Amino acid sequence: MTDNVGNPDARPDLDLEAEFGEDEGTLTEQEIADAEAPCGGVGVGIPLAGGGRDDLRVRPSGSERSGHPGHPGGGHPAGVPGGPGERQRHGGARSMGFRPGGGPQALAYEERTGIKAPRIIAWEITRSCNLSCAHCRAASEFGAYEGELSLDEIKSVVDDIVTISNPIIILTGGEPLMRPDIWEIVDYCHEKGAMPVIGTNATLVTDEVAQKMAAHKIPRISVSIDFPTAEGHDEFRGEPGCFDASIEGIKIAKRHGVGVQINTTVTKLNADKVAEIHDLAEGLGVDAFHIFMLVPTGRGSDLLEQELPPEEYERVLTWAYHRQKTSPLHFKPTDSPHYYRIIRQLAKAEGKKVTREEYGLDAMTRGCLGGITFCFISHVGDIQPCGYFDMQLGNVKEKPFSEIWTESRVFNDLRDYSLLKGKCGACEYKAVCGGCRARALEITGDYLEAEPYCVYEPPGWTGECAG
Ligand code: SF4
Ligand code: SF4
Repeated sequence: MTDNVGNPDARPDLDLEAEFGEDEGTLTEQEIADAEAPCGGVGVGIPLAGGGRDDLRVRPSGSERSGHPGHPGGGHPAGVPGGPGERQRHGGARSMGFRPGGGPQALAYEERTGIKAPRIIAWEITRSCNLSCAHCRAASEFGAYEGELSLDEIKSVVDDIVTISNPIIILTGGEPLMRPDIWEIVDYCHEKGAMPVIGTNATLVTDEVAQKMAAHKIPRISVSIDFPTAEGHDEFRGEPGCFDASIEGIKIAKRHGVGVQINTTVTKLNADKVAEIHDLAEGLGVDAFHIFMLVPTGRGSDLLEQELPPEEYERVLTWAYHRQKTSPLHFKPTDSPHYYRIIRQLAKAEGKKVTREEYGLDAMTRGCLGGITFCFISHVGDIQPCGYFDMQLGNVKEKPFSEIWTESRVFNDLRDYSLLKGKCGACEYKAVCGGCRARALEITGDYLEAEPYCVYEPPGWTGECAG
């Protein structure tokens, strides 16, 4: 069984840009202003890979304004009983005072290159898994896969990563707890100044494992739950007993003080059950609930028929906007870049501006972060903008991670919003949204083409969507 940050071959539901948190302060003041401008008012095209700009991030004026559970002052959409300060639960890396990409190496790297340092890296440290979910075409099994990075190789890559950043590193799989040296990897990340978190199916989380998580300072794990009941979840996964085992693992982790995030991939099969899953998550006392809009790419593209049509996407994301107002969880949609357009449209209709004070980090981050502050490393060391983006930009066995991050043409294209094509290129929301580049690649063959699952038509746009 794979998890939402798991095996891209197994299931195209990796949370890759916002797992365990959000990307703090991605947008510039100008980009925010452009997105707030009246429709058709301003076209933006601010390349992020420009030279030496120090305005590439907008710093919070204080932790009380943060919208992440790591900070006491949550702040998603307004209207939260007790005010934004009571909005979010704790349990993420930032609850330990960790600020990904905020360390001296990252700041020096940005100053030197004009490129943002990676803040979140999802790393498939193994493809092995203890389960065999029906939808897992990678057929993950016990035992090491050929070419998997060794412990020494992993340490070397960490050594290189920390020369340019202090990211959150999501250790995922497969099932990362299958890797016998997982705790050495965790310790090494900590030792070098990165923050490891774990994406797991939770079925292996016993008291002993949860104790280790706590002892090795894992701030949060993420666990995929696709239905609110065992019947639906087990049927979807084709693994009887899987739901109960994952729920038990979640409870054990919480008992030992490890933060838990529940991830749900929204498809036609469960779109009408998302509210129930939210309530299940709340009842379990977890810290975060992230919904993922299915990205059926690469070897998972046969899930295409389960993808919601664009209009349904819009409905679910609109529901999420309103549910965020009262949810006690850190609740956010992921892999749905146009959510950041929807936030602004709905806020405007309510007569509000999307400010950090009212909307927390939702006001400061953008939709697609692949290649911008996020990337994926596969079990054999291939680097991709995210796990859905079916293109390898280099391999860490052949070239240092830092070089690939800096020099890859694809990464640099993704950082330059002025290169976006079709209606995304013409859209006033492109800096805050950007469309899903993996979907564009899958459907059009061009990662810079228009996002095929967005209903929005930019004012004045008359062309056809390439999708
Ligand atoms: S047209 Fe593209 S950039 Fe604009 S909101 Fe839709 S997906 Fe985002
Ligand atoms: S390409 Fe799509 S799936 Fe990948 S990070 Fe961007 S929005 Fe998420």
